[in-house]
Amino acid sequence: MRKCQGRTDLGFGLALRHTQGVATAIQTEQTNCDRCQSQLPVGAAYCDNCGERTRKAKRLVRLSLRIEIVFFILVTLIVMGFAGVFYFQK
Ligand SMILES: [Zn+2]
Repeated sequence: MRKCQGRTDLGFGLALRHTQGVATAIQTEQTNCDRCQSQLPVGAAYCDNCGERTRKAKRLVRLSLRIEIVFFILVTLIVMGFAGVFYFQK
């Protein structure tokens, strides 16, 4: 019975710690470079020392890439739509 209780507590503690770690990763601003560990200015997108992108900048790049892909697909669909309309209008 005691053993079982201990295991439950450990599981809960691990889950809690994991949740806190994720929350901290999202909320705290990155202050040191991932590559060279030098100090970063607040809100920096690149490291002054080695030029490594900050995590925030990487996230933004990923987001803009996703937007570009969606935009490209939309344009392709519109072009194909127009092509289809002109093709069937003959
Ligand atoms: Zn750096």
